[in-house]
Amino acid sequence: MRPYVTVNFAMSADGKISTKERRQLKISGKADFTRVDQLKSGSDAIMVGIGTVIADDPSLTIKSEELKQARASRGLDENPIRVVVDSRGRIPVDAAVLCKGPGKRVIGCAETIDPATHRTLKLHATVIIAGREEVDLKGLLSQLYNMGVRTLMVEGGGTLLWSMFELGLVDEMYQYIGNIVLGGRDAPTPADGEGFSSTDPFVRMDLLEWVRIDEGVLLHWRIKSPSQPG
Ligand code: NAP
Repeated sequence: MRPYVTVNFAMSADGKISTKERRQLKISGKADFTRVDQLKSGSDAIMVGIGTVIADDPSLTIKSEELKQARASRGLDENPIRVVVDSRGRIPVDAAVLCKGPGKRVIGCAETIDPATHRTLKLHATVIIAGREEVDLKGLLSQLYNMGVRTLMVEGGGTLLWSMFELGLVDEMYQYIGNIVLGGRDAPTPADGEGFSSTDPFVRMDLLEWVRIDEGVLLHWRIKSPSQPG
């Protein structure tokens, strides 16, 4: 069993989720920021890859006081469980996701993590070991489910999202398209990694809704299952 997975990201009009230097930037606006905060607060857990932690140092906390209170009144922690996918435990112990705001943290690591690093990380988070060289995402999601996580929001980046799609672990996707062009052949996209070949079964989706927000558009997709041959 695994949690229901919702992917959320913002990209430029030319399909990039950050600049060629992999620097975070503002792609959407205030209204979309509020939507994302709501999506977060309705999730049991929120997950990112270590590349995103190193590039952006996000805290992954809920920002709105009303949403924090609404969670408290439902008997929930102020923040969803924050999960980082990090095979070798590269996360700095002063990363915002480990230091800012109350709540549980999980670091998903692989068996090849250095034992001393493992011991250090256990002081800051629950460490789940899944997979040998890199994190076995199916195994990690199954362990999150066993911890009570039923809804998981995944924010990126492109390497993690690719693996999630490749493994058929995504159920829904919110894609915000902003009114900027970033360019750059090496700038990250929503699904990087190896990519499918023309003979592979692609991930296919149903468009559930689209709506103008701020200066861009939000697309809401449901992933079709099983995927059809390309
Ligand atoms: P990422 O996807 O955040 O993290 C990827 C890393 O996770 C891998 O390099 C790997 O590092 C680790 N990992 C472990 N097991 C994995 C598995 N099974 N599959 C995939 N990854 C696994 O990093 P990224 O691709 O470099 O993306 C970061 C960029 O995305 C940044 O520029 C950030 O600004 C951008 N971003 C944008 C948005 C947006 O909405 N616009 C949202 C999030 C991020 P190890 O081998 O060391 O474990």
